[in-house]
Amino acid sequence: MPEQGRTGEKIYRGIPVSTGISRGRVLVIGPPNDEIPTHSISEHELSNELERLEQALVQTRHQILAVQHKVEEAMGSKDASIFDAHLLVLEDRTLLDEVTRLMEQDRMNAEAAFSKVANKYATTLSSMDDEYLRERATDMRDVASRVLNNLFKRSDETALQHLTEPCILICPDLPPSTAATLDRKMVLGFATDKGSKTSHTAIMARSQQIPAIVGLHDLSNQLRSGDYALIDGYSGTLIINPTDQTLFDYGQLIRKQVTLEEKLRDIQSKPAVTLDGVLVGLRANIEQTTDIEAVVACGAEGVGLFRSEYIFINREQPPTEDEQYQAYRAVAEALKPNPVVIRTLDIGGDKLLTHSHLPQELNPFLGWRAIRFCLVEHTIFRDQLRAILRASVHGTVKMMYPMISGLGELQQANQLVEKYKSELRAEGIPFDEKMEIGIMVEVPSAALIADSLARHADFFSIGTNDLIQYSLAVDRMNERIAHLYDPTHPAILQLIKLTADAAARNNIPVSVCGEMAGDPAMVPILLGLGVTELSISPSLIPRIKFLIRRLKMSEARELARFAMTSESQQETIERARLLVRNTAPSLIESGETGTGDSEPSPSI
Ligand code: PEP
Ligand code: MG
Repeated sequence: MPEQGRTGEKIYRGIPVSTGISRGRVLVIGPPNDEIPTHSISEHELSNELERLEQALVQTRHQILAVQHKVEEAMGSKDASIFDAHLLVLEDRTLLDEVTRLMEQDRMNAEAAFSKVANKYATTLSSMDDEYLRERATDMRDVASRVLNNLFKRSDETALQHLTEPCILICPDLPPSTAATLDRKMVLGFATDKGSKTSHTAIMARSQQIPAIVGLHDLSNQLRSGDYALIDGYSGTLIINPTDQTLFDYGQLIRKQVTLEEKLRDIQSKPAVTLDGVLVGLRANIEQTTDIEAVVACGAEGVGLFRSEYIFINREQPPTEDEQYQAYRAVAEALKPNPVVIRTLDIGGDKLLTHSHLPQELNPFLGWRAIRFCLVEHTIFRDQLRAILRASVHGTVKMMYPMISGLGELQQANQLVEKYKSELRAEGIPFDEKMEIGIMVEVPSAALIADSLARHADFFSIGTNDLIQYSLAVDRMNERIAHLYDPTHPAILQLIKLTADAAARNNIPVSVCGEMAGDPAMVPILLGLGVTELSISPSLIPRIKFLIRRLKMSEARELARFAMTSESQQETIERARLLVRNTAPSLIESGETGTGDSEPSPSI
């Protein structure tokens, strides 16, 4: 339920996942059409309701004809004729009579009546023995979904490719692959019913610097396209019909942001060094080669996590060795002598390939994911390893494996690297013989045997997003249990400490590349635990550098000691916030609240 704000305002609060403030008209994207609001209509509303239905049917017909036309041009009339069946649904007199009867006699609203009848037809068709008739159930659902979207005046996801006006997107959920391809000029922000702070969709929003809020429950059913809204990605607040006073308050906040931005620009090329002289490696997380510009602009010292899987998704065929080589080489060359850590393919979980038919799994995050996939799919792994090795002569390339859970996986992967190195030598293709290979520590078992893994790895990178979900048994995608997803849980801090201590004993660097490293309140704790590098979204680098340059390691260590054994996570968070507030007050004033819980921004 929304809160009532100042006169006429409705305020919705969710989980803030990507900072920034913007305002504009909302665009609501369907489905779910399975949650159709049902209400009765009065006699005098009936003619208007029938008229709405008629308009939605006409609009749907035009849309289908347009799609058919496009398909005909691209693929010929045979493929286009598939849509004749869709058009026939719209002309089916029996179906339409039944819908109008429900509206006239039972006084059902148009959405509910149409959805009821269409569902009944689809269910009957899908239970037929005849395959042709069963297929018609899919047509029926497809057309029904269009008609309902038109009745609700909401767009379907394909409309995202053709936005003509800037908007704030509202939808039940957004797949990471869609979030990765949003047009920043058109999408001013987005808010979803589902999701959590470490979902890959949230990560995409941050890397695209699009303000975003997730976990808003059934928001997409409550709003209508065209509503005017303000989205505050700092506090996770979406305000519908903001008043002039609210807009004024946000104007003030934006001005504070601008002042802070100026200070951040001054330190752009300065190192991330604490007041007591400890140098922290501050690198960027990226997903595609087009992120290079952002890395250079934010003043990061290279890339600490290149999520290579985004080169693999949203396409029909996996990228070839050469295509990958060009991509990795471009990043290495652009950023040298700074390092670029390329993570090998981390597919599975919420990231799926269109070209490889991964089996449906009951627990995809515990399933055939990341290194487990690559150690079986040798062709895909070989192409990637050879491409990374070849790119290594063009800069400071490092490589790491995701989801290592035991020594065996690391050794197997390293053996394959040796094999492909021999191949390249035999072919006379150059590569960096000393290219460093590290692992992600994101499965609790890896943290617990960190000493033994450290003897076979050149560096560690702690993936707190997964480490937290696997240690606390909390699905990182599930907004219902998001309150249990707690980076300050002493168990998490102890696993990080174990990993950092093992790294120090074995003389290798240890980084954190999960979202925890981009949270100002968590940074002193991580550094205090012995983490030597941080890798975060480019958009967060300036703020985190600003904080580090004002921090004393002695204070960070003291906070970490307290947090590791604290019996109150609330107290840990409060102390962490206080340290940030005392160290860098302008970060707080400008809307940064740390730890991602929703403190309202201005006084609303
Ligand atoms: C992590 O798990 O913290 C991580 C950085 O990897 P990803 O978010 O891509 O799973
Ligand atoms: Mg991970």
